[in-house]
Amino acid sequence: MSDDQKLIASARILAGEGHGDMTLGHVSYRRPGEDTFSIKARGIGLEELSSSTIIRARLDGSPLDPEAAIHSEIFIHSEIYSMRPDIGCVIHTHPVHCVALSCVSSHLLPISQPATLFYDDLAYFTDTICLVDDRQLGIRLAQALGTHRAILMKNHGVVVVGKTVEEATVSALMLETAARIELLTYGRQVQLFPRDDILRLQAHTRKPGNFITNFDYFSRKHVR
Ligand SMILES: [Zn+2]
Repeated sequence: MSDDQKLIASARILAGEGHGDMTLGHVSYRRPGEDTFSIKARGIGLEELSSSTIIRARLDGSPLDPEAAIHSEIFIHSEIYSMRPDIGCVIHTHPVHCVALSCVSSHLLPISQPATLFYDDLAYFTDTICLVDDRQLGIRLAQALGTHRAILMKNHGVVVVGKTVEEATVSALMLETAARIELLTYGRQVQLFPRDDILRLQAHTRKPGNFITNFDYFSRKHVR
């Protein structure tokens, strides 16, 4: 699979697994060895992404083709890539359960296997519920993300990052599942995992091979 094909697969997987919201949401990858990244175009659904609607942009957020239909929130991507040289993929979406969780909590309880992936690794952005559509807001979001794997954006959505498209995509799915499970427990007594268990599970779920195996599974499920 080429890098562009992987991006298309990621977008379709995200749409198929509860991250779609009309034409909103975007996913990008850093082009290896270049100061540019490739990102989904504005005006199409995640599941509609194709090679003709992938846009290349510089790390200041400007598209190589000045006429390209870039998302106004491109600064989420450009500023995270600028601040995090370790990151190769950035996802911003509005999955329903994560948005609901972001309205009532700043973090995830470690009460499910997918939640352990984000134990001590989930940030919270409260500066605005509006679009992150200028560079200063992008910088503030990237600063709030810090070294974390993901950030809940209060009343808005999520940003999930990874070294690879596989890691960011599967992490994004796990974040939505974890948020859904937590919301289902509200009003009930829940058992927390012991910290040792959490850390053991986290070490397992963070293995790069697991991200690849599960990305391949979701590709078979959603990409024809
Ligand atoms: Zn958004």
